[in-house]
Amino acid sequence: MTATSAGNGGPVIESWEEGQFAALEVVEAALPPPVTEGTVLEAEDIHVSFGGVRALQGASMRIPAGTIVGLIGPNGSGKSTFFDVINGFTIPDSGRIRAFGQDITDMNPWHRARLGMCRTFQANHIDPNLTVFENLITGAFLSISGGVLTSVFQFPKSRRDQQQAAELTRAVARLIDLEKVLEVRAGVLSFGGQRRAEIGRSIMSRPRLLLLDEPSAGMDSQEAGSLLRLVTRLQSDLGFAVCLIEHFVRIVFDHCSIVYALAEGRVIAEGTPDEVSNSKAAQQHYLGEQ
Ligand code: ADP
Ligand code: MG
Repeated sequence: MTATSAGNGGPVIESWEEGQFAALEVVEAALPPPVTEGTVLEAEDIHVSFGGVRALQGASMRIPAGTIVGLIGPNGSGKSTFFDVINGFTIPDSGRIRAFGQDITDMNPWHRARLGMCRTFQANHIDPNLTVFENLITGAFLSISGGVLTSVFQFPKSRRDQQQAAELTRAVARLIDLEKVLEVRAGVLSFGGQRRAEIGRSIMSRPRLLLLDEPSAGMDSQEAGSLLRLVTRLQSDLGFAVCLIEHFVRIVFDHCSIVYALAEGRVIAEGTPDEVSNSKAAQQHYLGEQ
C-alpha cells in the first residue's frame, strides 16, 4: 500500500492505507444502502432547445447500478445540458427521466437531491473562504434532521446529527487525503485538492448517483488519471453509481464500463469502451483528435 500525498493537493494516493479502512467503514455506514441491481437512471429521448440551438435531439442514456458511465463528446455537444436535465435544472422539451424506480421528469432539483442525486460542475463550486471542513460539512445539510431552525436552537436530535456529520466529515477527508488540511481555507489548496474537496462534499450528501461534470478540467492527463483512480476507489467501495463527463477519452475508457458518445445533441455511439472506440461514427466525429 502506498501513500504519497502531502495533503495539500499533491498526488492522490494509489490505494487505501491502513488508517483509511476505518474511515471507509464510517462513510459506508452513513451512506444509504447501495443499489446493487437494475437501473439507477434512465433518460429517454430527451429534446432540449435554447431558442434556435438544439442542445439535445433525442438523446437517451441508461446508468446501471454500481457502474461508472462515461459521457464524451466535443465541446457544445450537449453533455452539460444532459446533466442539467438529469438533475432538474433544465426541464426537457420532451422525453422522460426515471431514477431510483420512479419518474422524476417533473421533479425539482431539490427533491432529486433528496433521492440521492448529486452533481458537481465544470467550474469549481467550493467556497474558497470557508475551511475545508466547512466546505465538506455543507454537503451533509440535506440530511441533518430538522433543517436550519433545529440546528440553530441545537435540539438534542440535531446536536447528535451534527456530531455525526462532523465525524463523517473527518472520515471523508481521510479518504480524499485532505484530513491534514481540514482547518485550512479551501482557497489555498492546490487545484487538485479543491477538486477532491468538491468530490468529498458530494459524498457527504450521501449520493446514490454522482454526476461529475469534467472533474479534471484544467488538469493534465496524469493529474486527471489520479483523480479518476480516487473516484473509482470511492465508487467501488461505497457502491454508488457515477456518470462522468471527461474530456480525456483515454481516461474514460480506462475507468468506465459503459460509454456514451454525444455529437450535436445525439448519442452517436454507446457500449463498452471497446465498442465505442471501434465505432465508425465516434471515430469520425472526434476520436481521431485524441
Ligand atoms: P457541452 O457540455 O457538451 O460542452 P453544453 O451542453 O454546455 O455542451 O451546450 C450544448 C449547446 O447548447 C451549445 O451549443 C451551447 O452553446 C448551448 N447552450 C447550453 N446552455 C445554454 C443556455 N442556457 N442558453 C443558450 N444556449 C445554451
Ligand atoms: Mg460542458
